Amino acid sequence: MEINVNYADEVLGMCICMTCPSWVNCGEKGGYCLSMFGKSACIKDEKGCVCLQCQAFKRAGLSQISFCTRGSADEQSK
Ligand code: SF4
Ligand code: SF4
Repeated sequence: MEINVNYADEVLGMCICMTCPSWVNCGEKGGYCLSMFGKSACIKDEKGCVCLQCQAFKRAGLSQISFCTRGSADEQSK
């Protein structure tokens, strides 16, 4: 999937990672489902994932979860 900067901004605007039990605040903005971000540098423990409730998730028709620990949607599709 080709991802432009505007799309990334839109996804970040919809991202609800910061409400997730797994969220660790280390200055990241979420958007881990996007290949331009992918895995988090600080979230290591999976304590749940709220991606299923995210508008960006629904719009993109994503199927995997826990992008912060497992990698972006593209990465997990490989
Ligand atoms: S699907 Fe998950 S990682 Fe992607 S924008 Fe939504 S909450 Fe963030
Ligand atoms: S990708 Fe999923 S598990 Fe990771 S912080 Fe976002 S909502 Fe939580």
